[in-house]
Amino acid sequence: MRYNEVSRHTGYLPGVFCAQGKEYSFIAQKKLWQRATSAGSCAAVLERTAAKIQNRRNYIMAKWVYLFSEGNANMRELLGGKGANLAEMTGLGLPVPQGFTITTEACTQYYEDGQTINDEIQAQINEYIGKMEEITGKKFGDSENPLLVSVRSGARASMPGMMDTILNLGLNETVVNVLAEKSGNPRWAWDCYRRFIQMFSDVVMEVGKKYFEELIDKMKLDRGVTQDVELSADDLKELANQFKAEYKGKIGKDFPDDPKEQLMEAIKAVFRSWDNPRANVYRRDNDIPYSWGTAVNVQSMAFGNMGDDCGTGVAFTRDPATGENGLFGEFLTNAQGEDVVAGVRTPMHISEMADKFPEAFQQFKEVCSILEKHYRDMQDMEFTVEHGKLYMLQTRNGKRTAQAALKIACDLVDEGMRTEEEAVAMIDPRNLDTLLHPQFDRASLVRATPAARALAASPGAACGQIVFSAEDAKSWHAKGKKVVLVRLETSPEDIEGMKAAQGILTVRGGMTSHAAVVARGMGTCCVSGCSEIAMDEENKKFTLAGKEYHEGDWLSIDGSTGNIYDGVIPTVDATIAGEFGRIMGWADKYRKLQVRTNADTPSDAKKARELGAEGIGLCRTEHMFFEGDRIDAFREMICADTTEEREAALEKLLPVQQSDFEKLYEAMEGNPVTIRFLDPPLHEFVPQTDEDIQKLADSQGKTVEQIHQIIDSLHEFNPMMGHRGVRLAVTYPEIAKMQTKAVIRAAINVKKAHPDWNICPEIMIPLIGDDKELKFAKKTVVETADAEIAAAGSDLKYLVGTMIEIPRAALTADAIAKDADFFCFGTNDLTQMTFGFSRDDAGKFLEAYYERKIFENDPFTKLDQNGVGKLMEMAINLGKPVNPNLHIGICGEHGGDPSSVEFCHKIGLDYVSCSPFRVPIARLAAAQAAIANK
Ligand code: ADP
Ligand code: MG
Ligand code: MG
Repeated sequence: MRYNEVSRHTGYLPGVFCAQGKEYSFIAQKKLWQRATSAGSCAAVLERTAAKIQNRRNYIMAKWVYLFSEGNANMRELLGGKGANLAEMTGLGLPVPQGFTITTEACTQYYEDGQTINDEIQAQINEYIGKMEEITGKKFGDSENPLLVSVRSGARASMPGMMDTILNLGLNETVVNVLAEKSGNPRWAWDCYRRFIQMFSDVVMEVGKKYFEELIDKMKLDRGVTQDVELSADDLKELANQFKAEYKGKIGKDFPDDPKEQLMEAIKAVFRSWDNPRANVYRRDNDIPYSWGTAVNVQSMAFGNMGDDCGTGVAFTRDPATGENGLFGEFLTNAQGEDVVAGVRTPMHISEMADKFPEAFQQFKEVCSILEKHYRDMQDMEFTVEHGKLYMLQTRNGKRTAQAALKIACDLVDEGMRTEEEAVAMIDPRNLDTLLHPQFDRASLVRATPAARALAASPGAACGQIVFSAEDAKSWHAKGKKVVLVRLETSPEDIEGMKAAQGILTVRGGMTSHAAVVARGMGTCCVSGCSEIAMDEENKKFTLAGKEYHEGDWLSIDGSTGNIYDGVIPTVDATIAGEFGRIMGWADKYRKLQVRTNADTPSDAKKARELGAEGIGLCRTEHMFFEGDRIDAFREMICADTTEEREAALEKLLPVQQSDFEKLYEAMEGNPVTIRFLDPPLHEFVPQTDEDIQKLADSQGKTVEQIHQIIDSLHEFNPMMGHRGVRLAVTYPEIAKMQTKAVIRAAINVKKAHPDWNICPEIMIPLIGDDKELKFAKKTVVETADAEIAAAGSDLKYLVGTMIEIPRAALTADAIAKDADFFCFGTNDLTQMTFGFSRDDAGKFLEAYYERKIFENDPFTKLDQNGVGKLMEMAINLGKPVNPNLHIGICGEHGGDPSSVEFCHKIGLDYVSCSPFRVPIARLAAAQAAIANK
């Protein structure tokens, strides 16, 4: 237990104690403190009563409110980022208008109590209003020196613009007249009042900004002026009255006059804004848990709107777009709050402050330097100048582009402010994505308005002419045209068309739909799940946002934001700056996890090598069967009536598959290559069009009717859980035999050509649920491989391992490990089998799950550590003791997700495998995991 000095003023003892592993802040009455000390040990007594604490809040209360002078930067969990930094700046002696912070725990409590602020919290707030009045020498509603405050949200992680702020709270008809009179500046007083009514109404009562903006516009029109600052005191007074009337009209009640009532309402509104739709979406996109809650900061106002010797601004210590070292920001005179960013007037460059406010500017530059050195990172600050005097209102580590992040991290190392490890930890791995794909020209992008927004499924920018089928994409591409492929959804046979397209837009499907997964793998921009599109694939047209689009029309899509634009927005190729290599070099130095790639083609493999992949963790062999006329041979195999016929068809595939594998080994230059045997159900390969069916019938000497019968016979009620994976190798061992031959022959050839490379193929059997399945498939593999190796007189070594992607495999991993050289978690299947819903259908209900707070994330994107993760840990703990040489990896989509990579590091995997463009992300995330868990 820790406790602070007994507060002389209040007779309360603030402190912190631990009970049942949780820290409680408390304030104990002096009486209790004295009783405790006289009983011998205060700690013992308080700890003994810890269990009863919850019911005895009248003796020991949680501390819900902190003065800025009571906190510091390390308390961001409790005080939120803004509150913790206001406290830290106060501690540093910087000019911060004083106030207090209501904790994030109070927010959580507010929701627990059914969206009300309970009496205990209200009492503490009222107590702290008193303290604030003492500190500032001003009083709420006072007729001499009235206190005006801002009420500001502030979560643990910064969520800019997501929640709400109210300024100038504490004003009413009486107070505004006092201010007008005492200051001799009625224009200012009425400007504050009209702003307050506007913000309070908008935020607290959800009235909607637009009514007020309309009234302002009308007033300006009436007065023949264009700018807010040109309105007179009387105009603003009239506006305030109009606003109040508007409020009463909409709400049916008078605008509240009592400052304390205003404050409670405003605090509630900020708590409520934690749950507003845009905040919920932002949190999901940025991995911020709902349970964190937001703090509320109540701060006395500094006024930038008192005249031309006042103003307000925002600034960064370095350029957030490029990382260039130097003050970057904007300033607006006679303004308040969001005026700078809202674009009501054009602000001036921060450097122009030097002339207008020489003293305040000098001081501000010093503050910048103090803050940057203190936080050892680029700072994003908000400040106000009141009659030439500087006030700091906020500082935080500034958001920055990926490019700027890399430059700043390297510069901070060079400037001696950060170590290499710290620099690595500073980069958000998810940001790197944007560096690896073409981007829209920034200037053109700001001028464009999106026609719609859907899921940002695969990053990058694409601009091209609309086509509606994979075949058209291919043929248009062959003619040198740039196309965007728009489809209801994509399927494996669309792959070539997808490759030919600049970008892919689908009407259906989520972040792990076929289109999304494949596009990410190829590094092609993809926007998925745009349900606003009314699609007519047959007639090659669709409607979106009231416009009909036809084949050949231009469309631009942004896979990094999910935005869809009508027409042309030019793109520029991404450049990889020198700092990128430096940071990745450091990351490689510190990470423990190996990073492999999921690659099915030599070109993917080559790309992945360039991006630093140390091997292939998953080669999906079935993807190789779609190219060119290979699919014909594969279809022959499916339609075969006898084993002999099947073998004959497979014989045709053997050389092409072998040559593919040779190219993969070549591309990987002796690094490990894991090849997964045929996995999907066979129906995915059958012909769809009449033309193709006819062609197959002709080549097989069968009737169209017979082919239809075969296709029908392959129909499955639940293909995801049907005849696929190892089950294919059990029913058709000849398929596994052919694939083994191709793998081994290719390896022997490449080994001959490169004797110095360590070629050791890793054959991976998918979808094992029982050790006997693996035994059976492995027998086929080993017999075939050993015969091939003996015949070639080679000493090639190879491994046979298995995917762990069915819960039963994890549960019986000890038995399976006896026959497996390696495990690889196929977390896409493992997730859907564990949850019992398929990733292709989850899109239909996940939105409702987010809304109802059942899920915070898509478990197919972010690994479900509590469930799926537990199965993974179980498989490791069962497998390793049986087979100490077992090496273990992951090759689901999660292999490229930073928080999932950290989990993989913690549970002791040897490698993660992800799509080529995610390799740098995984490398960085692996390094961060190693550094954080040192
Ligand atoms: P956000 O988190 O959206 O940036 P803030 O809580 O920072 O919202 O408030 C927005 C703006 O309101 C600030 O940048 C600042 O200009 C103004 N503001 C907030 N509190 C005060 C205050 N006490 N005095 C003067 N201006 C304030
Ligand atoms: Mg702010
Ligand atoms: Mg699988």
